[in-house]
Amino acid sequence: MATEKIDTLVVGAGQAGVAMSEHLGNAGIPHIVLERDRIAERWRTQRWDSLVANGPAWHDRFPGMEFSGDGPEDFVPKERVADYFVAYAERIKAPIRCGVEVLKVTRNEGRPGFAVETSQGVIEAERVVSATGPFQRPVIPAIAPKDGGLFQIHSANYRNPAQLPDGAVLVVGAGSSGTQIADELRRAGRQVYLSVGAHERPPRAYRGRDFVWWLGVLGLWDIEAMAPGTEHVTIAVSGAYGGRTVDFRRLAHEGVTLVGLTGGIAAGKVSFQPNLAENIARGDAYYLSLLDKADAYVRRNGLDLPEEPDARRFLPDPDCVKNPILELDLARAGITSIIWATGFALDFSWLQVDAFDERGKPRHQRGVSSEPGVYFVGLPWLSRRGSSFIWGVWHDAKHVADHIATQRKYRDYPGPQQSAENVA
Ligand SMILES: Cc1cc2nc3c(=O)[nH]c(=O)nc-3n(C[C@H](O)[C@H](O)[C@H](O)COP(=O)(O)OP(=O)(O)OC[C@H]3O[C@@H](n4cnc5c(N)ncnc54)[C@H](O)[C@@H]3O)c2cc1C
Repeated sequence: MATEKIDTLVVGAGQAGVAMSEHLGNAGIPHIVLERDRIAERWRTQRWDSLVANGPAWHDRFPGMEFSGDGPEDFVPKERVADYFVAYAERIKAPIRCGVEVLKVTRNEGRPGFAVETSQGVIEAERVVSATGPFQRPVIPAIAPKDGGLFQIHSANYRNPAQLPDGAVLVVGAGSSGTQIADELRRAGRQVYLSVGAHERPPRAYRGRDFVWWLGVLGLWDIEAMAPGTEHVTIAVSGAYGGRTVDFRRLAHEGVTLVGLTGGIAAGKVSFQPNLAENIARGDAYYLSLLDKADAYVRRNGLDLPEEPDARRFLPDPDCVKNPILELDLARAGITSIIWATGFALDFSWLQVDAFDERGKPRHQRGVSSEPGVYFVGLPWLSRRGSSFIWGVWHDAKHVADHIATQRKYRDYPGPQQSAENVA
C-alpha cells in the first residue's frame, strides 16, 4: 500500500490542534490532525468532576464562536468546554482523525519532510506541528513516600471527595488546582491541610470587571517571558461556586489548615518549610499591585468604574499562619491521603528531531522550532503569558500557520528563469 503523504501533520486535537486546523484551513494548507483519544480529551478525563473554566465564557473561548447555553460571565463546566471544541471542529470541518496515536517522528534523510509512525501506519509529512499540550505528564516530586499505606494521587487523577478513603487529606500545591481541590474537600467535610508555596493571587474581579479583563487591558497577558525568579510561581484563581477570589485566610477561617512548602516526608512525619506567612504576603503583594495598576488605569482613562475600597481589606491572619505547623505526624493527624497538585512536565519522546535543548526543552521562536519543518503550539509561554490558555493558543496558531504558508511560498518559487518564462 502506498504511504500516505500530507503537507502538514498536526499531533493532538485539544484546543491547540483545533485552532491550528482552523488557521491552516484558512490558508489553504492541506493537513490532517491526529488525536490518540477524542477531541479535547484532557478536558473530559484528566480533570476533576466539578471543574469549571477559570475564566468567564466571554473570554475563555476562540474569537469565532461563543458558548451556547452559557452566559458571557458564566464559568463553563469542563464537559461543555470539551463539547465546545467538538462543535468548533465540526463547524470548521477540521480533518481530525481520532484514535490515532503518533508514536515516532523522524526527519527524512536527503529529502525534506518527516516519517510519522502512527498506531495506524506511516505517514509522510512535510511539516509536523506538535499540539500535544502544555500539561502532559503529571509530576509527583521525589519526596512522595514510596510506602506508608497512604492513598496518593496527582491532581490530574483526582475526581471527587468520594474517591478518597476516609480521613484527613494533605493537598500539596496551592495553584488553581490545589486550592480548588482543598476547598472542595473541606466543603465535603474533610479535614484538609493545604501546603502553600509561592503563588500569584489576582482578585477574581475588581471594580466590576473580572481579572481576565484587567490582565487584558493592562497588557499583562502579553508579557513575553516570566520575570527572573518567578519560574516556580503558580497562579491561584478559581471559577468555582460562581467565581471567588482565592483567599487563603478565608480558606483557613473556613477550616482548611494552611502549611508552608512541603519539605520532606519520612518515618511517618511530614515537614513544612517556615515560609507560609512569606508566601501569603507575596501573594498579597501581587494582588495589591494589580489593584494599584487597575486604579491607575481607571484614572488615566477617566473610566466610570465603581470604587471598591473593601477589596483592600484582608481578614485577620488565622492561627495556622501566625503559628505555622513545621512538622506533622501523619497518623496522629489522621492523614490518609495526599493529593499532589504539583504541576506537569512535557513529554516529547515521540518527536525524535533536533528541536530540544540539553534539558529537553523545545527550542523555538514563537512556536517555530530550530528544526526546520517542526512547530509547537500550546506550550506555556510559547509567545506570551496567554499562550497555554484557550484564547491565547488561537493567536499563536495563526502565527505558526502564517509561517508555514510563507515557507510553502519559498518552496514553490520556481527560480528566476522559470518565473521570467511564466511572466512572458
Ligand atoms: C486543571 C486545569 C484547568 C484549566 N483551566 C483552564 C481554563 O479555565 N481556561 C483556559 O484558557 N485554560 C485552562 N487550562 C489550560 C489549558 O487550556 C488546558 O491545559 C488545555 O487542555 C490545553 O489545550 P491543548 O490543546 O494545548 O493541550 P491538551 O488539551 O493537552 O491536548 C493535547 C492533545 O494531544 C493528544 N496527544 C498527545 N500526545 C499525542 C500523540 N503522541 N499522538 C496523538 N495525540 C496525542 C492528547 O490526547 C490531547 O488530546 C487548564 C489546565 C488545567 C490543567
